[in-house]
Amino acid sequence: MRILLVEDDNMIGHSLRQALAETGLSVDWVRDGVLAESALSQGSYAAVLLDLGLPRRSGLEVLRRARQEGNRTPMLVLTARDGLDDRVSGLDLGADDYLVKPFELRELLARMRAIIRRAGGHAQSTIGTTHTQLDLATRQLVHEGTTVDLSAREFHLMHALLERPGAIVSRTQLEERIYGWGEEVTSNAVEVLIHGVRRKAGADVIRNVRGLGWRVAGAQA
Ligand code: CA
Repeated sequence: MRILLVEDDNMIGHSLRQALAETGLSVDWVRDGVLAESALSQGSYAAVLLDLGLPRRSGLEVLRRARQEGNRTPMLVLTARDGLDDRVSGLDLGADDYLVKPFELRELLARMRAIIRRAGGHAQSTIGTTHTQLDLATRQLVHEGTTVDLSAREFHLMHALLERPGAIVSRTQLEERIYGWGEEVTSNAVEVLIHGVRRKAGADVIRNVRGLGWRVAGAQA
């Protein structure tokens, strides 16, 4: 299993890397938020240990962007003792757990195992129907044998439609899934996304149900 360690403090970084390596994990260690993002976009990690006070880009910003892009890698946030605001923001932004510095290594390892285990619990990586499947890990859509890559929003759209195959999903339900709180949503935003997915994967991948919403065809796989 590969862990991404994001920590700018040399001493903490070295001791964490060593402790993780001793438990048989392989560790990529980066020391700023920009490098963390490029590591996250290139690599597949079992978990991320994320310090929040980082050069170039804060840990909270790294977390926010990763979740916005649909990255669901379990993340354990490391915060300062007085960082209540940080802990709350971290959890709100999609951190799986946090630890307050200074912490015991044993506790860090236990919490990391826990978030990896929880992620594994719903690591059913493909959902969909006999015609259409969505890979939750790669965010690829397979429709009638054709594989296409989806943008983050297209992925959220298809996730909502394929979770309960055949069920009709309304515009409001889709908007809630695709867009964040307080985000401006234009009246035809959902249609534009649906059009985009149809263009990539085929016109029949999403069916209109007049006046009610949309659904995917086919029975649950
Ligand atoms: Ca720091």
